[in-house]
Amino acid sequence: MNKYFQLISQHFSINQQETLSVHRIKVALETGGIALILMGVSWALLFSYLKIWPLVLIDFLILFVGLTTLFLLKKHFLRSASFVLLLGLFSLAFSIALFMDIPSLATPRVIHLYFLSLAFYAYLLLSNEKLWLRNTVFVLLLCIFLIFSSTNISVANSLMIPESVRHIGAWINSATAISLLCLVLHIMQSDFILRTQIGNELSQALWENQFELYYQPQVNAQGVVFGSEALIRWNHPTRGVVSPAEFIPLAESIGLMNPIGFWVLNESCKQLSVWKNDAKMSSLSISINVSAHQFYGQEFVSKVLSNVKRMEIDPKLLKLELTESILIQNIEEVISKMHALKAAGIGISLDDFGTGYSSLSYLKRLPLDQLKIDQSFIKDILNSPHDQAIAKTIISLGRDLELKVIAEGVESQQQQTFLLNNNCHAFQGYWFSPPVPVNLFCQFVAQSQRSQRE
Ligand code: C2E
Ligand code: MG
Ligand code: MG
Repeated sequence: MNKYFQLISQHFSINQQETLSVHRIKVALETGGIALILMGVSWALLFSYLKIWPLVLIDFLILFVGLTTLFLLKKHFLRSASFVLLLGLFSLAFSIALFMDIPSLATPRVIHLYFLSLAFYAYLLLSNEKLWLRNTVFVLLLCIFLIFSSTNISVANSLMIPESVRHIGAWINSATAISLLCLVLHIMQSDFILRTQIGNELSQALWENQFELYYQPQVNAQGVVFGSEALIRWNHPTRGVVSPAEFIPLAESIGLMNPIGFWVLNESCKQLSVWKNDAKMSSLSISINVSAHQFYGQEFVSKVLSNVKRMEIDPKLLKLELTESILIQNIEEVISKMHALKAAGIGISLDDFGTGYSSLSYLKRLPLDQLKIDQSFIKDILNSPHDQAIAKTIISLGRDLELKVIAEGVESQQQQTFLLNNNCHAFQGYWFSPPVPVNLFCQFVAQSQRSQRE
């Protein structure tokens, strides 16, 4: 049984940055694209041999849809690739069913079987779309399958496939459509097994203390470390250190982000209380990331406040990083919770700023302390006038609203110099240090304090 899980995990092995649902969509797109290419080529060869040129043209269209899907997948345009695959396959299957694969007494119509496979394919590929869209497409495709299966609906014309070819085609198309259906059900089932397995492992990880906080230094304009961002890592017993980008979306989808988030809060407060008695570390702040689900939880504010009180730490040293996505749901609730936290002295930072929903009028009403320029704008800041303009705008917006601005993802001295010249207050990124375990972070602080004194 364990071996079976391992095999499935290998087949579905996901890299550090790839979430489970993205990986599943990639597998489905890849197999769908390859299946279309094989189908297009083999039917094109057969119809070329029979010199039925209009049907060869249709097969080239099938080939084109398959190639375009794989091309878009290679370029990481997953959404476009999904829509090309679904719309392409739908239009082709619909036209063939209506105009070419016309049922006769000798041979039934089979092309409509693809609508059944397509319905499940669409259900899988549209898993990150709005629920209504996913369900409507699924039901619509099943209805079309039902209509073609239960009626002889068709339009007689000169493009009808010859009876002799339809006879062989009936076997080939039925087998291909059923294989595609089995494949997509297999992907769904494997995904379900893997999710359940990782879900169980995640709950176990909490009990068995497999999570660890790494700390990434935050440095001010004078080069002095004033704090850190605590970033969670999962020390998986067999997979090694697992990045949060991989397990947080899953933890969120199975409702585990709340306990994990409170573990992070508790650990950070504990760390602040340890550093309280260490002269070198006592003034350093810790920023923690808070997921929307955790923030909207009933007990969020009271738990933060009780932790701060219980550990007897300075609330000013605890900073909560919220993302703009939190603001979409219920802005009044967000503002009132932020005010309650702010009143207790806790700092609030808006993470990944510039990538999401930012209404300037709301921004004015939020009791924020800090804006964090998203790393996507820093990456190409030296070459992209567009990114330069965005970074400069965020810095001057921060200054106008009397907020500190920190740039994340600073990877070179030139990037830091550019930001410094444009009055950015603070920096975080690999140029200073990657996120590291607590002992290495303390060494980094000691080293940087020594070089400040020299
Ligand atoms: P984030 O809060 O925006 O954190 C910054 C991410 O950028 C971190 O990735 C960090 O390792 C990475 N980073 C820092 N400097 C650089 C750089 O110079 N170059 C590049 N390329 N990357 C840099 P990490 O640790 O993998 O975390 C990813 C995301 O996972 C975080 O993004 C945050 O949204 C989430 N996350 C991490 N820990 C927690 C947590 O405890 N709770 C919650 N809710 N989310 C967390
Ligand atoms: Mg963050
Ligand atoms: Mg960020």
